[in-house]
Amino acid sequence: MRYISTRGAAPALEFEAVTLAGLASDGGLYVPEHWPSFTAGEISAMAGLSYVETAVRVCLPFVGDALAEAELRTLFTKAYGSFDHAAVAPLVQLDQRHWLLELFHGPTLAFKDVAMQSLGLMFEAFLGRSGRHLTVIGATSGDTGSAAIHALAGREGVEVFMLHPKGRVSDVQRRQMTTVLAPNIHNIAVEGNFDDAQALVKAMFNDAGFASKFALSAVNSINWARLMLQVVYYFYAAVRLGAPQRRISFAVPTGNFGDVFAGYVAARMGLPIDRLIVATNENDILHRALRDGDYSAGTVTPTQAPSMDIQVSSNFERLLFDLGGRDGAATAAAMGNFEATRTMAIPAMQRDAAATIFDSARIDADAMAQAMRWARDKCGQIIDPHTAIGLAAARASIGETPVVTLATAHPGKFREAVERASGVRPLLPPRAQGLFDREERYDVLPAELRAVEAYIAARARPADAA
Ligand SMILES: *Cc1c(COP(=O)(O)O)cnc(C)c1O
Repeated sequence: MRYISTRGAAPALEFEAVTLAGLASDGGLYVPEHWPSFTAGEISAMAGLSYVETAVRVCLPFVGDALAEAELRTLFTKAYGSFDHAAVAPLVQLDQRHWLLELFHGPTLAFKDVAMQSLGLMFEAFLGRSGRHLTVIGATSGDTGSAAIHALAGREGVEVFMLHPKGRVSDVQRRQMTTVLAPNIHNIAVEGNFDDAQALVKAMFNDAGFASKFALSAVNSINWARLMLQVVYYFYAAVRLGAPQRRISFAVPTGNFGDVFAGYVAARMGLPIDRLIVATNENDILHRALRDGDYSAGTVTPTQAPSMDIQVSSNFERLLFDLGGRDGAATAAAMGNFEATRTMAIPAMQRDAAATIFDSARIDADAMAQAMRWARDKCGQIIDPHTAIGLAAARASIGETPVVTLATAHPGKFREAVERASGVRPLLPPRAQGLFDREERYDVLPAELRAVEAYIAARARPADAA
């Protein structure tokens, strides 16, 4: 399988190169040259498979010959062996129509572990056989950073620099990053918001001299392999609920549009998904884009669901590209214009195509808290604010189709917000206990490209020093 850039000017790459590169050199995002697809019979045959086996089937067409099937199986067995639930991603029934898919049983209590644990092992496999080393840089609104750090700590050939917005991640999120003291892990608290941190990361990639000198790589959801690894659980859940004979909808708490784009990929691969419900908090650029065609970035409003406090959703570019006839030049022009003006009118072609599968909802703090209390009172489930936003959107949707809400974080990760909204203070699960007794290490930097580059240059290994 080859991968092409949404902006049409970067070279096409194979899976290994695309996994290690993250962002394309023309500023675009990599997508597969074509979507592999499964027949209804092949999807039916996934019934009863373990999570690991489902992952092997779903990922093999994307991985091509970068990893043999047996290597992939070993890798997934190791990655998901670190989860504390034998089903990896268990479904929980709420009522006759609603389900939760619990994606938070990994080491850092959020869904990002599902992709990141495997991605860390892929990095190690690819770097180990070439003897190369890389500098991973990322911006995190909290959960990506901790998942990446736990997946890459102590791994050979990788130096990690993780930027988080100072004071805008929860205590648990921060500690999950800053208490990892492995020498290849560097935490930077940026004086700014998540979009500032993400802009710094993009600027470092666009600084060609810097990017090549330190062999920069990204593990944000712009990394294709992460999205691929998230496609797996759409198949896993839908097949358990009767797909392909029955159509299934998903409600997805959305920030950077990575998780819900993985659902779109599953649909392109033949999974009969009825609706993909994009649930946003008050930072509702995606809701406005899908409902009115108005993709214009405002300022970030801090909410109880900080991992969704995002105005510019990187992965939306992949959707615009795919729905717009895969025209790289047109996507480059549209995104260039958006980056200059912070506003874009979604063309009718993409809007109409998006409307055939996507719905959206903007869930405010009251509706979020109400969904949390409903889950507590009617189903005995304590859910986190991100999941509650998804569930509120799911319950507001009409029709008879079963709706699976992606439960993206463990409630213990956002204890204060859960207690405020539901009156119940969730416990941290055993695998996270001790977090508040450990030593923390991080540095604070201004949101300035020169300062961050100087910090990294003083600590990273130049690519030619191998
Ligand atoms: C990252 C995250 C989201 C948003 O996912 P995207 O792929 O960025 O849309 C939602 N909930 C939680 C808990 C997250 O960590």
